[in-house]
Amino acid sequence: MTIRTYGDATLRKPAEAVEAISDEIRAICEQMVEAMLRANGAGLAAPQIGISKRIIVLDVDGAFHILINPELIETSEEVAEVVEGCLSVPGVDAPVQRAVRAVVEGTTLDGETVRIEGEGLLARAIQHEMDHLNGNLFLDRLSPARRQSLLKEYRRREDSA
Ligand code: ZN
Repeated sequence: MTIRTYGDATLRKPAEAVEAISDEIRAICEQMVEAMLRANGAGLAAPQIGISKRIIVLDVDGAFHILINPELIETSEEVAEVVEGCLSVPGVDAPVQRAVRAVVEGTTLDGETVRIEGEGLLARAIQHEMDHLNGNLFLDRLSPARRQSLLKEYRRREDSA
């Protein structure tokens, strides 16, 4: 299972809600967890493995979550700018402004509704993965000048890879 990278159409599509937790959904979650662990990521969204469904996985500071149909319930007014990267835009990073706290609600593989309150890195990962489900990437949150220079750097790295 390869992680889709910048330019892939699935990354730009709003993902579809999961209708039921089927064996197919279980298998997708398993693939996502594998891909996240292999890439040493803090989180992954289904579109990143080419599946346009509303599923995210998170692995931050020992907290591990699989969330189906997650909804961002609340974000703090307080924001912070922290350097952030993305497995789908490998090799580059940039400071991104995000809320320092975020609350997300979703369904587990057991069909239970859970609410996760994140601070710091977890809050950031929640918001980052939720962006993926809406077809957005972290670089969309940068100023146009910063985005351009980041993409230039990214393409330069890709060309030399
Ligand atoms: Zn990402």
